[in-house]
Amino acid sequence: MATTVKVLSTGSEKGSCVYISTEEVSVLVDVGPAKSKIEKLMLAENYDPTKIDGIFISHEHGDHTDGIGFADKFKIKVHASEGTLKAIGRLEFGKVVRTNGFTGFRPFSDHFMNVKPFAISHDAMEPFGYAIHTMDKKVTVLMDTGCVTDDMLEAMADSDVYIFEANHDIGMLEANGKYHDGLKYRIRSDIGHLSNDQAAEALAKLIRGRGEQIFLTHMSSSNNTAQLSEKAVKLALFEKGLVKGKHYKLEVI
Ligand SMILES: [Zn+2]
Ligand SMILES: [Zn+2]
Repeated sequence: MATTVKVLSTGSEKGSCVYISTEEVSVLVDVGPAKSKIEKLMLAENYDPTKIDGIFISHEHGDHTDGIGFADKFKIKVHASEGTLKAIGRLEFGKVVRTNGFTGFRPFSDHFMNVKPFAISHDAMEPFGYAIHTMDKKVTVLMDTGCVTDDMLEAMADSDVYIFEANHDIGMLEANGKYHDGLKYRIRSDIGHLSNDQAAEALAKLIRGRGEQIFLTHMSSSNNTAQLSEKAVKLALFEKGLVKGKHYKLEVI
């Protein structure tokens, strides 16, 4: 059976939570929404909350961890970097995953799911992106990061599904009178959040036009619109001769 990938929730207000499942293994990446909300979102899609084998956390910020009680309720192991586990006070509960090699998570020998973490760049203790290999797909989850490095591109290369942050439009951010200069600087910095243009530039290096699925996520409600992020990515890919619908699929969440 094919791998199921569903972005259940995303964004700094709603919280991020991604569901990835094969017939044998199911995991969540990030548990931002409240635990009861995660349960509701899963049940609405007919996903069984009692059948989650592991939870992977990108970093400790609340919009990625506020629903961590979901792990306790269903007795699910929490996996993250040592820095993240320390930051959320869970070092004793989780198995520490490391960035070197495919050793993160391998609960089944025959129908396995391998989760390969990679370091990302965000103002958190030790933030990770995840490249998740199932029998038929490679799914990349790149949450909050201020830049995309060559190492990150290498870790994400040849994915079938890209769950990518496209946080803000630079013009909207600059013009936003409600955000003070320090906050704007933080968002724009290398340890802040990805702009539409940064996401587009990285995706233009990654997408090869073999039907990859892109989900643009973690969109700022005050500094971005779905139209702007989609336009930025479509344009960058068009310059490479790639057309939405024909060479790749794109959805803004
Ligand atoms: Zn976030
Ligand atoms: Zn964050």
